[in-house]
Amino acid sequence: PFVYLNGAMTPLSEAKVSVLDRGFIFGDGIYEVIPVYDRKPFRPAQHLARFFRGIEAVNIRNPHSEAEWLTLVDKVVQTAPTEDQLAYLQITRGPAPRTHAFPAQEPKPTVFLMSNPLIPPTLAMLENGVACVTMEDKRWLRCEIKSISLLGNVLAAQNAAAQQANETLQFRDGSLTEGSSSNVWIVKDGTLLGPPVDNLILEGIRYHLIAELCEANGIPFESRRIARNEVFTADEVLLSSAGKEILPVASIDGRTVGNGKPGPIFKKLYASYQIAKRA
Ligand code: PMP
Repeated sequence: PFVYLNGAMTPLSEAKVSVLDRGFIFGDGIYEVIPVYDRKPFRPAQHLARFFRGIEAVNIRNPHSEAEWLTLVDKVVQTAPTEDQLAYLQITRGPAPRTHAFPAQEPKPTVFLMSNPLIPPTLAMLENGVACVTMEDKRWLRCEIKSISLLGNVLAAQNAAAQQANETLQFRDGSLTEGSSSNVWIVKDGTLLGPPVDNLILEGIRYHLIAELCEANGIPFESRRIARNEVFTADEVLLSSAGKEILPVASIDGRTVGNGKPGPIFKKLYASYQIAKRA
């Protein structure tokens, strides 16, 4: 497979960056993941806007316009083997002598893109739901930035993997935040609830999309603080992300969610999402 690195398409095995790259040394960079269906990026403008917000938030010099980034996405998408993909975009502050503060002499940002096959959730996951576990959210307080510094998220994901669960639901001060790499939703009495969009979560591109799908399906939607006990007593719990799309949760810490089967709100949102993604 080919990837894009700093100006050229390169075989993956030949793509190399400096060991002094601040992405490698400090995790000093921003990334983005865009789902691609039939080789067409889904909601690219929203993904690029979030990517640009992150880049601006950490003062990395953005060497490309939105149109240029989309051209680069298209390059990696066209060379990938499958029709459905997850395109990955990354920019780091670039290589520089190791000092924490931004280098006095501004380095050239490192730009990297690749695209991998999108493996959708299995039928079993969609029909039976997935198992989740919980953990205190111990990440930093700038979770709205899609930083490549993902150690907190990595540890949360590993916490799930170690317990044969699909995802870890994180809680901060007793309130639901998000998964290791997904947003989390609950259904109570027919209303879909999502945590507030603030610095404690990454605003998934599916966050706004799901709000839209609720509107289209006549499902009441509310964004507010969600207490831990509300998650455990919810009628349904859902996950969303570029790769997971929308997934039903069957159990949390071994306790059954609702009646243990994917519920009616999940089914409606899932069906609408399947139509939207190829529209
Ligand atoms: N939160 C976190 C921490 C994530 O990594 C992701 C995946 N990008 C999401 C939420 C969901 O975002 P999206 O819908 O854009 O994939």
